[in-house]
Amino acid sequence: MSNKYDVIIIGAGAAGMMCAIESGKRGKSVLLVDHAAKIAEKIRISGGGRCNFTNINTNPKNFISQNPNFSISALNQYTPDDFIELIKKHNIAYHEKTLGQLFCDHKSQLIIDMLLSECNQVNVKIKKCFVVDKVEKVNDDYIVINNNDKYFSKSLVIASGGLSIPKIGATDFGYKIASQFNLNIVETQPALVPLTFTDEILSLCNELSGLSLNANISQGNISFEEGMLFTHRGLSGPSILQISSYWSQGDSININLCPRDNLGEILQDKKNTKPKQNIISILCEFLPKRLAMIICDKNKFKGNISELSKQSLDKINNIINSWHVTPKGSEGYRTAEVTRGGVDTDEISSKTMMCRNHPGLFFIGEVVDVTGHLGGYNFQWAWSSGFVAGQYT
Ligand SMILES: Cc1cc2nc3c(=O)[nH]c(=O)nc-3n(C[C@H](O)[C@H](O)[C@H](O)COP(=O)(O)OP(=O)(O)OC[C@H]3O[C@@H](n4cnc5c(N)ncnc54)[C@H](O)[C@@H]3O)c2cc1C
Repeated sequence: MSNKYDVIIIGAGAAGMMCAIESGKRGKSVLLVDHAAKIAEKIRISGGGRCNFTNINTNPKNFISQNPNFSISALNQYTPDDFIELIKKHNIAYHEKTLGQLFCDHKSQLIIDMLLSECNQVNVKIKKCFVVDKVEKVNDDYIVINNNDKYFSKSLVIASGGLSIPKIGATDFGYKIASQFNLNIVETQPALVPLTFTDEILSLCNELSGLSLNANISQGNISFEEGMLFTHRGLSGPSILQISSYWSQGDSININLCPRDNLGEILQDKKNTKPKQNIISILCEFLPKRLAMIICDKNKFKGNISELSKQSLDKINNIINSWHVTPKGSEGYRTAEVTRGGVDTDEISSKTMMCRNHPGLFFIGEVVDVTGHLGGYNFQWAWSSGFVAGQYT
């Protein structure tokens, strides 16, 4: 029957394409379907159009999951070096930007073209604009129904991603299929997402919109030191996106606006050694001028440092080295880079990505409860989990 395949993969993103290539290399007949007219859109828009395709420092500690050990097997079976080898085979130029993050020198489309060419070499059949109306299981067969047409396979791989950026095709399809097969889902929430504020903090963010600086953001014992950006809605930039993956409604976060210096000690020292120095000029040595001026203006810190009480100096120290704020919320799935939570890893074998209780049913990529930090880790998870499933379909 022409609609019979060894493997059907739903979702032609990073994980789905990698799984298709690997299944195809093993001689399997593969159908890769996507409801979108343009596949792998997230690869195209990723990394500001240059795709941060992996991170050479990838480690299971860079992933959030209810089971922190779940990612180990897949990351060992397919490493950043393995993906770099593929990139080199296709002569795609790349560079390390910072912190082990590898980006394409040119457009992300080159990665999509590479994956399509690999799919083509192993005869993967790709169908776009393919809406899955229903999935059924009859005996050993998975049946995917589209427009009254039935497609049969022994292996069904769900690679439909998470909920972030619905505008380019994200849906809850994977979670619905998981529910259909009675699989537990770890509550989902937007992650790697800007945080929003109200009242005075929002008005401060508005005034400083566009300004960025290096900051250390912490919540409990988790902290990140990278860039932070003031925006019209609140705070963004890598350090905020990173902490957002750990943040829940009602939590406060601690921001150190000058993480390399202890302002408390410095101000005390200046008061003793340079009492006539103006407080604004002192703060401008450690902070961007606009920020230093706004902090002084809002708190009425002015004049020479000798004129400021110990209480005022402590307040300055607190604002700069330990600014405690409670976000009102996040920008949500509209701008989140990823979805935290997803199909419970207890339901899936970490060695094969196959469901423990449903032979032939696989979940890979972002739909699973494995969420990477910012910096190329999410694609590495997509490549690794896709590769692994491709060995067992
Ligand atoms: C703006 C942005 C920038 C990012 N930059 C980076 C980066 O530089 N580095 C990094 O590591 N990560 C980055 N990420 C995260 C990364 O893109 C994702 O983690 C990764 O794409 C997940 O791969 P996936 O294959 O699981 O899902 P996706 O890539 O989301 O692919 C899922 C596919 O399934 C399809 N689909 C969805 N629902 C259905 C349905 N009902 N029927 C059929 N098909 C369906 C979608 O159309 C899509 O093609 C970024 C994300 C965003 C939003």
